[in-house]
Amino acid sequence: EAITVQELSKRMGEKGADLVKSLFNMGSMVTVNQTIDQDTAELLVEEFGHRIQRVSESDVEIDTEADVDPEETLKPRPPVVTIMGHVDHGKTSLLDALRGTDVVAGEAGGITQHIGAYQVKMKNGDKVTFLDTPGHEAFTSMRSRGANVTDIVILVVAADDGLMPQTIEAINHTKAAEVPMIVAINKIDKEGADPTQVRTRLLEHEVIVEEMSGDVQDVEVSALKKTNLDELMEKIHLQAELLELKARPDRAAEAIVVEAKLDKGRGPVATVLVQRGTLKRGDVFVVGSQTGKVRAMIDDKGAQPKEAGPSVPVEVLGLSGVPSAGDKLTVVENEARAREVAAYRAEQEKLQRTTQAPTSLENMFSAAADSAVEFPLLVKADVQGSTEAIVQALNKISNDDIKVRILHSGVGAITESDVTLAAASNAPIIGFNVRPNAKAREIAKRDGVRLKYFDIIYDLTDEIRAEMAGELGPEK
Ligand code: GDP
Repeated sequence: EAITVQELSKRMGEKGADLVKSLFNMGSMVTVNQTIDQDTAELLVEEFGHRIQRVSESDVEIDTEADVDPEETLKPRPPVVTIMGHVDHGKTSLLDALRGTDVVAGEAGGITQHIGAYQVKMKNGDKVTFLDTPGHEAFTSMRSRGANVTDIVILVVAADDGLMPQTIEAINHTKAAEVPMIVAINKIDKEGADPTQVRTRLLEHEVIVEEMSGDVQDVEVSALKKTNLDELMEKIHLQAELLELKARPDRAAEAIVVEAKLDKGRGPVATVLVQRGTLKRGDVFVVGSQTGKVRAMIDDKGAQPKEAGPSVPVEVLGLSGVPSAGDKLTVVENEARAREVAAYRAEQEKLQRTTQAPTSLENMFSAAADSAVEFPLLVKADVQGSTEAIVQALNKISNDDIKVRILHSGVGAITESDVTLAAASNAPIIGFNVRPNAKAREIAKRDGVRLKYFDIIYDLTDEIRAEMAGELGPEK
């Protein structure tokens, strides 16, 4: 049995970097993303003066990784889509326009409810779920909490404006999450619209659309004139088929909170997206460190369904308190069990806050699956020339065992968006002659994101090389 250094550090409540240092002193050169065997782990635990206690997590925790549904119980589920892009490129307009393509909305005569997500039924009967909060901040902050709800990203680029800074950020956030992308080239009705220019500029960011013989689907749309929306829906459907999205519907439900608030009349309410199982009225659940019993569910058309299956978004009433976006809702047998699990989660949360950024599963897996371990990084520099030079220099220091993966690089101060991306991917941020703004500094501190500042490229590559070898330099 093996465990990643990061997971172990989380369980011990010690800094990952300290464990790596100790391991180095013991003669093992590993990074936080790598796994160590049980014997080494035990040595390390003793080294830190901790007691070894092999608790079975399943005693108190319910959503263990071992809890996998057998293949034959899985049924196809609708894709969950997030729309990203630069401000004013038409994300909100497109969300509204796509909502209008729903064939049920007309029939049912229901009143549109803004619950944070909605589902559209296509003419062929297939469904697509859209998250109503556009942009990459929400997407990445959910991901940093381990909630990867998005299956497909639609990147909106206004054809009259082209690629802008947030477009590039959205591309990098999507790539870091390894979520497939569909490019919607919007505002083609406008004078000066130049879709070809958009496609060409996307090449610079390694987004090669079909028209350019790549495999990223693209479609020219107008959210305003409702042009080509069916075509966009068709492409989403196609992408979803490739992904073969499935979940087991006939089991106790697990869902992720996409939005939550305290409603004056109704008390705490949360919009959740069911990931597997079916959520039913009367179900007892834990959500984050809150408990509850489903008193009622309200869907995006104002109806009150008795149950909600995979990929269905519903607003849930009957919570003990307000959870956070990204929290997991899990149905349990009874209220006593709910309280027990909630208490355990509250304790875990406290522990995580005092230690480091939450473990992201994908880091653990990338370490195990690839032969070469990836070393993720973000680079911000004062001028474009420096950014390019640093990226080149860093790419050169990769070797067979470990390779640098630059999640995002850019010019200017370290921003909130940089920090959320770094936190989600457990990557340090390199600032070359730049510093974070106040908000970014605050989030970095909260989420335990490491910020490293340099003014000489040679120092930078030296330190990263050393760090890659498992020997962590002092944190600045
Ligand atoms: P967001 O900031 O990305 O959510 O962008 P919005 O949806 O708020 O759109 C920004 C502006 O662009 C609004 O004034 C929209 O009316 C306009 N807009 C959005 N889509 C289109 C389109 O397809 N054609 C034209 N001409 N204008 C559009």
